[in-house]
Amino acid sequence: MWIDTHCHLDAPEFDADRDAVVARSRAAGVARWVLPAVAAAHFEAVRALAHAHGGAYALGIHPLYVDRADDADLDRLREALQRWRDDPRLVAVGEIGLDHFVPEAVAGRERQALFYAAQLKLARAAGLPVILHVRRSADALLAQLRRIPVVGGIAHAFNGSPAQAAHFLALGLRLGFGGAMTFERALRIRELAATLPETALVLETDAPDIPPHWLYRSAAERAAGAVSRNEPAELPRIAETLAGLRGWSLTQAAAQTTANAHAALPRLAALESLASPEQPS
Ligand SMILES: [Zn+2]
Repeated sequence: MWIDTHCHLDAPEFDADRDAVVARSRAAGVARWVLPAVAAAHFEAVRALAHAHGGAYALGIHPLYVDRADDADLDRLREALQRWRDDPRLVAVGEIGLDHFVPEAVAGRERQALFYAAQLKLARAAGLPVILHVRRSADALLAQLRRIPVVGGIAHAFNGSPAQAAHFLALGLRLGFGGAMTFERALRIRELAATLPETALVLETDAPDIPPHWLYRSAAERAAGAVSRNEPAELPRIAETLAGLRGWSLTQAAAQTTANAHAALPRLAALESLASPEQPS
């Protein structure tokens, strides 16, 4: 069994065929997904999808959505974490973090930092791990994490230096790898995937984003109407890259990354012992 530890099934890109996407994922052996929210308006959607399809979800406000969020959204997050605290499918606070890459977001760095720190505190209070968005922001994320420690989690789509990777691991986080690793020119990511301790790695698609190389379309191709949408059914093929880099069999890759995901998100492990999918509540 494979776990997609980061998948935006609630994204509008899936509105037309979401059930088929889920069916293809299951057929490919990817039967668990962690659905991180990106904004307060999505909290209900990720929760409902997780319950409908036997997945898990995280609640949080994404750094690239902070400009559109108002301060009351932090209260909404606090209330939602309180309301669903006994929901076994609520496994983390996320997607939270800092994006220092997207130029339009630069102006909002201060506000991003404010939301990030506030959400770390909420995660800490709830005793939940975090799912972190890291883009050119690893050192700033680490500084706050040291100030406001949490019980662990995942630094998703990790693309930092070996030293930054080691710092995240020392703070109890695992690192998420996905489609970016399938590009041969992604030397740094591939080097990390090949050499980090085996307990450090979790797999993710970030669908509909970060398509693997076989789904990638250039900006020009997309402008001409080509679609470049990632989906969770791609995870086993993405995992082949990881297995190849590490000299693992696919079975080994599935077992190790599943164990790592369970360690990163303990409630996900507890879900495996639940009986057949519960009724949505
Ligand atoms: Zn994401």
